[in-house]
Amino acid sequence: MGKIGRAGLYSLGVNLFLVVLKFGLAAVSGSLALAADAVHSLVDVVGSLVVLAGVFIAGRKAKSFPYGLYKVENVVSVVLALLIFLAAYEMVREALFEPARQLSSAPAALLGAALAAAAAFLFGRYERHIGEETGSPSLVADSQHFRSDVLSSGVVLIAVAGNAVGLPLDRLGAAVIAVFIARAGWGLLVDGMRVLLDASLDQDTLAKVRSTIAEDRNVAEIRSLVGRNSGRYRFLEAELMLRTRDLEKAHQVSSRIEAAIRASVPHVDRVLIHYEPRRGDLCKWAIPLADLKGTVSSHFGQAPYFYLVTVRPASGEVADSEMLANPYANVEKQKGIRTAEFLIGQGVDGLVLREGLEGKGPAYVLADAGVEVVLAKCETGEEALEEVRHANL
Ligand SMILES: [Zn+2]
Repeated sequence: MGKIGRAGLYSLGVNLFLVVLKFGLAAVSGSLALAADAVHSLVDVVGSLVVLAGVFIAGRKAKSFPYGLYKVENVVSVVLALLIFLAAYEMVREALFEPARQLSSAPAALLGAALAAAAAFLFGRYERHIGEETGSPSLVADSQHFRSDVLSSGVVLIAVAGNAVGLPLDRLGAAVIAVFIARAGWGLLVDGMRVLLDASLDQDTLAKVRSTIAEDRNVAEIRSLVGRNSGRYRFLEAELMLRTRDLEKAHQVSSRIEAAIRASVPHVDRVLIHYEPRRGDLCKWAIPLADLKGTVSSHFGQAPYFYLVTVRPASGEVADSEMLANPYANVEKQKGIRTAEFLIGQGVDGLVLREGLEGKGPAYVLADAGVEVVLAKCETGEEALEEVRHANL
C-alpha cells in the first residue's frame, strides 16, 4: 500500500476513534451536542467506507453490467445523504422540542471535546502535509474536512462549557452541528445525483480533451465531443472528421488519439471515437503557380504561388477560390516539407501537380495528412482545375 492509501486508512482510524470517544462521552454526560458531534463523525466514517468500497467494486465488470459498477458508489452516496438528512432532522427536532437534560460529568465531557478537537486538528495537518507531498487531491480534501471537524468540536466545547456555568447552550450547540451534518449530506447528494443523471464532465476537462484531439494533424474537424462521469471514472465520446479515406489509417489515428487523451486526462475508462473520412460535400484543391497569370509551376516547394479552389464534387461548382503566396518558396532548407505543412494548415484535401514530388519528405507529409496528389499535364490553373473538378475525395 502506498503513502496515500496508508494516510486514508489512518484517516478512517482517527474518525473511528472520534466516534467511540464522542458517543461514550455523550452517554456519560447526556449532552445532545456531543451526541450530534458523534453522529457527525459517524457520517465521516461511513463516507470514507463508501469511497474505499467504491475503489474495490468499481473495477468489476460483468456481462449484465458491461459499463462497470462504478455508479454503485454514487447510489450509496445518495442513500447515505437521505439517512444523513434524517439524522440531522432528528437532532434539530430533539434540540427544539425535547426538555433540556441536566448534564453530568461536565469535566470529562469538556476534556473529551478538547481531545477530539486536538486530534482532528493534528491529524488534519499531518494529512494535508502528505496530501501535498504526494499530490493527492482526495487527501487534501479530506484534510480540509478535518478543519470543519475541529470547528464542530469547538462548538461542543463551548456548549458544554456554557452548560457548566449555567447557560443552556447544549441544545443550541446540537442544532448548529446538525447544520454541519446536513451540509455534508447535501454535498453527497449533489455529487451523487450529478453522476447518476449523467451530468457533463466539467468544462476544463472537456477543453483539455478537445485540445488534445485537435493537436493530431489527421483531425480535420471535431464535430462533437461529450463526456460523463461514472463513479470516479470518465467516459468520452467524440465524432471526428479525419483527413484520410483509408480505414486502416483511420483506425490507427483514432487509437493514437485515444492514447493521447488517456495520457493527458486521468481516470478515463472509455473513449469512443466515431470517424468519418473528411467532409464529402466540399473539396479544397491546391495548384502550384509560377506567376499570378495562372501558369502552372512544374515545381512544388519552389512555386511562388498556390491557387486554392474549393469545389462541390457533386456538381463541380466552384464554391470559393483564392491566390496564396507561398511563404516558404525562398527558404534555404526543407522548402518542400514546409510548403506541404503550410498547405495542410490551409485545409487542403488534394494537390494537382505537373510532375511527381521530388524528394520523399513532402510526399510523406502530404500522405500522412491524407492529402491526395493528382498528376496532370496542364498549362494553366483553370485546366488543372478542370481535371479534378468532379473528383470526390
Ligand atoms: Zn466531519
